[in-house]
Amino acid sequence: MSGQWQNIGRDDPRPIVLSLYASGRSGSTVIGMLLAQGESVFYAGELQALWGPTPLADELCSCGAPMLSCELWRAVFEEAFGCVPDARMIARLRFLRDATSRARHVFLEEAFRRRPQWGAMQREFLEHTVHLYLAIQRVTRCRVIVDTSKWPSYVLLLARQPALEVRVTHLVRDPRAVAYSWQRAKAWRTTGAQQVRRQSPWRSAMSWLRENALLGMMRPFFHQHYMRMRYEDFARAPVTMLNSLLRFVGVPELKAPASTREFHVRGHHVFGANPDRLGRDEIIVQPDEAWRTELSLAHCWSVRMITLPLALRYGYL
Ligand SMILES: [Zn+2]
Repeated sequence: MSGQWQNIGRDDPRPIVLSLYASGRSGSTVIGMLLAQGESVFYAGELQALWGPTPLADELCSCGAPMLSCELWRAVFEEAFGCVPDARMIARLRFLRDATSRARHVFLEEAFRRRPQWGAMQREFLEHTVHLYLAIQRVTRCRVIVDTSKWPSYVLLLARQPALEVRVTHLVRDPRAVAYSWQRAKAWRTTGAQQVRRQSPWRSAMSWLRENALLGMMRPFFHQHYMRMRYEDFARAPVTMLNSLLRFVGVPELKAPASTREFHVRGHHVFGANPDRLGRDEIIVQPDEAWRTELSLAHCWSVRMITLPLALRYGYL
């Protein structure tokens, strides 16, 4: 396997992975879908979740096909691994991912490295992961792969891989708007029963704080390949903000007029991500202010108190 990716790395330019990192319900899916309207940009979805918790055989691609039947993803898997992953391979990769790429593994890496086989396990997981991104580049012929994976430690490990060029955009959204969004049920489409995910405002605020703080702690590792963006700024001027992201990864800007708010999205093959957005061919971007009147005062204040230091830092007064 390593021989194969070394060949790809030598002959083709390295793929640019744009990690659009955000805590849940912060709008990364819609931005990923719209970025993919750019030249040579493919929005892959939340690739860290490819190996679970939902079994890959039960996951749907945004094109409507089950992931293991979607023509594009089958071609990617064949290119990356020489086969479409079976249950045994999926279980192995899930085990390797969970044993080597969580936040504790990054922060306590020296201690984990003293464990027998741990380094080899991490190498095995990362080798498969790098293969996957190189295969996406080869199959889609896109230079930029947008990934909305939700683990900061996974993003950091990606950034360390010499075969990839990783750029990190830290997308933040007002924690009160996020808490309001988590109160609304959203169906998670799979090939079987739909799952519904919701969170209380308190849990939402704790997750927001933890997930944003973690990426903030890892920021020095990304050097100049890091930018922060507020969802509210995107919602106010979507084309301007999308173009700043496209400049960040060095591909041409959108040709749409700056005032555009309605976008047609087609031909997408997104894995995971927010299911509300994935079944649509049209996306209309509007500032989302519903939380200001719909979130109760008590919830508003409890979210504010929990998230205060970081929220202020991001300009949420
Ligand atoms: Zn598909």
